[in-house]
Amino acid sequence: MSIYNFSAGPAALPQAVLKKAQAELLDWNGQGTSVMEVSHRGKPFIAVADKAEADLRQLLSVPDNYKVLFLQGGGRAQFFAVPLNLAKRGDFAQHLVSGQWSKGAVAEASKYMRSDVVASNYEKDGNIFVSDPSMWSVDPNAAYFHYCPNETVDGIEISWVPKTGDVPLVADMSSNILSKQINIADYGIVYAGAQKNIGPSGLAVVIVRDDLLSYSRADTPAIYDYALQAKKDSMYNTPPTFSWYLAGLVFEWLLEQGGIQNIEAMNAKKSLTLYDCIDSSSLYTNHVAPQYRSRMNVGFHLADTSLNDAFLSAADKAGLKALKGHRDVGGMRASIYNAMPLDGVVALTEFMREFERTKG
Ligand SMILES: *Cc1c(COP(=O)(O)O)cnc(C)c1O
Repeated sequence: MSIYNFSAGPAALPQAVLKKAQAELLDWNGQGTSVMEVSHRGKPFIAVADKAEADLRQLLSVPDNYKVLFLQGGGRAQFFAVPLNLAKRGDFAQHLVSGQWSKGAVAEASKYMRSDVVASNYEKDGNIFVSDPSMWSVDPNAAYFHYCPNETVDGIEISWVPKTGDVPLVADMSSNILSKQINIADYGIVYAGAQKNIGPSGLAVVIVRDDLLSYSRADTPAIYDYALQAKKDSMYNTPPTFSWYLAGLVFEWLLEQGGIQNIEAMNAKKSLTLYDCIDSSSLYTNHVAPQYRSRMNVGFHLADTSLNDAFLSAADKAGLKALKGHRDVGGMRASIYNAMPLDGVVALTEFMREFERTKG
């Protein structure tokens, strides 16, 4: 029986990547040791680090005037690193709140800078909507504008990109980076915790425009100072070398899949397959307005909640793992990041239809 892991994060990694890491764990690169046991300053590891960055740049067509940083502390460390690094650009930041993660970013950033919420989600006819740009405006004096294009907990994804003029747009792409083509030039900063679409937890990738490297507060901790880390090639402190290596294998795998264009098409197919199953059933429901449904995190509720436990345990027995929704939302959530094959989604929909036929 195939096992499909729908965990929201840390999430499934491509099988091919895990096999490669396993095959070279004990003797990496002819060194007779694992990649974890060599100096980050030695030539062999520098080559790994450089290739990972080059591949990521290729995948996302990162322009030359952007730095790519590999830092520690996951996605949440950026919630404070962003206000600390942009502190001298202005006295306040603006935030669009579209779910749990963008809300969490406001709470943390508020410790370091006034952080104004321009708008939050609303409900209409029983569906959840994100407040679109016609409902708020960007203050040209803001130090930056922050939003989260994919809300992992709520299953909400925003396909438009806020137009913020000269105010740097900062995006938390922890759960949808590398899932579709984006135009990096639209953003001042893109950051992502690694454990959804990149690699092991603890690592974060930060893509930051050069001209934003001169606004940090004097008391910014050195390891979170973008300018310093850019100057030191993310090696001011010892970087998470194994995570960086694994992220590099994931980037190689993405290139082998034909790059982001192919991955994007596959992700569209996977999410449509699952939403079709939900919409054509009378047991499963999803209340995110169709244009805001996430392609990465598909939430659904059972009309009869007394069936939740039976659903989860039967799914688990069928090899469909980690479908329980976030505790704040309840119901079910299938996270179908890049590493989830279409077969896994098809297996889930077949299971859901059979469960509805026999128990629903
Ligand atoms: C998972 C996640 C985070 C937090 O990542 P950590 O590595 O746990 O700090 C932040 N933002 C989004 C959108 C996420 O999905």
